[in-house]
Amino acid sequence: MTNHPKDLVSKPEGGLLPDTRLYIDGAWTDAATQFDVINPATGKTIAEVSDAGSEDALRALDSAQAAQAAWARVAPRARANLMHRAHALMLEREQAFVHTMTLESGKPLTESRAEFLLSADFLLWFAEQTAHLHGTYSESSNGGFRVMVTHQPVGPCLLITPWNFPLLMIVRKGGAALAAGCTTITKTAQETPMTGALFMQVLHDAGFPPGVANLLHTTNSSGVSKPLMQDKRLRKVSFTGSTGVGGLLMEQGARNIMNASMELGGDGPFIVLDDADIDLAVDQAIICKFRNAGQACVAANRIIVDARVEAEFTEKFVAKVKALTVGDGMNPVDVGPMISARQRDRLSDTVAQLTQAGGTLLAGGKPIAGDGFFFEPTVLRYVGRNDVMCSNELFAPIATIFSVEGPEEALSFANDSDFGLASYVFTRDLSRAINFGERLEFGMVGINRGIMADPKAPFGGTKTSGIGREAGNDGIYEFTEQKYMAVTVNEAFA
Ligand code: NAD
Repeated sequence: MTNHPKDLVSKPEGGLLPDTRLYIDGAWTDAATQFDVINPATGKTIAEVSDAGSEDALRALDSAQAAQAAWARVAPRARANLMHRAHALMLEREQAFVHTMTLESGKPLTESRAEFLLSADFLLWFAEQTAHLHGTYSESSNGGFRVMVTHQPVGPCLLITPWNFPLLMIVRKGGAALAAGCTTITKTAQETPMTGALFMQVLHDAGFPPGVANLLHTTNSSGVSKPLMQDKRLRKVSFTGSTGVGGLLMEQGARNIMNASMELGGDGPFIVLDDADIDLAVDQAIICKFRNAGQACVAANRIIVDARVEAEFTEKFVAKVKALTVGDGMNPVDVGPMISARQRDRLSDTVAQLTQAGGTLLAGGKPIAGDGFFFEPTVLRYVGRNDVMCSNELFAPIATIFSVEGPEEALSFANDSDFGLASYVFTRDLSRAINFGERLEFGMVGINRGIMADPKAPFGGTKTSGIGREAGNDGIYEFTEQKYMAVTVNEAFA
């Protein structure tokens, strides 16, 4: 019998309801206890979901390990066919995914839909890549033998994902791992388990063999991940989340020399130079800052504007911020809630600190009373650069604008950070754009655009923003190991 959420998910017409249990070894499985999933737009419980413990985690690893060798031997084209089938099933279930994502993450339906479509594109990309893993064959540098290099799956992988992009992160990791021939254990974020459950159902219905993809939800993340990280059968961890937790996982994996990919925090500088198209910069800054209520690792965190155009930029930006509608994402609004009461409650202190550090409040600044975890879209302005926001990720619908004197100051202020994930520059001058692109110490640079994600693009950061890149042409190789074979070739025929 299928377990479904209690009262919520009857809405997606013709869609699927997410199963609320764990998915281990090809079957939905109860855990000893359950936990509540909260709709952040209402504060109400919308489902009770199985709460995995260490025993469930180790059972998932048993099954991933048992399935690994056979999955790696499945012909690439057959793996690709399964992934294509999953992609088709996903598209059929759009309404269920979009609806569930909005209910448990709070993001407006339009944003859930955009995330859903992008996630489907990523799955398609990995399906296409499956049969295209390459190898090389060459003569050794000194002659005398041959160098053959191929790529083999790294082995069972633990994929730990956050709540802010509850589908995209699972697909971006899981799609690559499955395409490479790895088996997986996905750990969802406690706040958004059901989106992951819908994706697991897609893989199940597409016919992925038992053990190849497993799914765990838990209120005790470290209780689930630590025994896995300490088990030599697990060969890789791919994590998206905060820099602190990423570092902890690397420590846990160090003893077993665990292969690790880390997508961590950011403090995206968004630079507007004096020759920029200001209207374009304003529109892109609004999307880049307020998408997902600012809860995105690539969000504009420091808006750095040349003093010569700062007044015009700020006036237009603030007018647009004041026009943003805030509310339950099931309605046509621009900005949804924060993910939790805790996240909302910390923001009043944040605004107080930012004001104390010299910021002038130009819009918002307060929580919104009533049900749900809403906070007003907020803008603060600083005269000159100010270190208050360097290496300080807001993760909130709070924009900070700094005026600077020219491109060199903009560049050095932007680079003054422990993070190195996403950065943005707006200019009409090609030479300036390339110059910034090369000198910004960030893994990604948006030039005259505030949204960058694409399956073709290598996603990831430098410094404390992480290690490795997801997707792009090479992302699949993060889930493989190179195998080198040295071959003696006797040139005289026997
Ligand atoms: P988080 O690190 O608290 O949680 C992320 C995931 O790690 C969740 O699944 C959580 O349950 C799990 N987790 C938490 N503590 C753990 C532990 N001790 N052991 C194992 N797992 C643990 O982060 P968050 O608050 O959910 O997300 C916000 C952070 O994630 C921000 O810093 C943001 O920048 C970052 N993020 C980065 C990217 C990226 O691609 N670089 C994307 C989205 C979010």
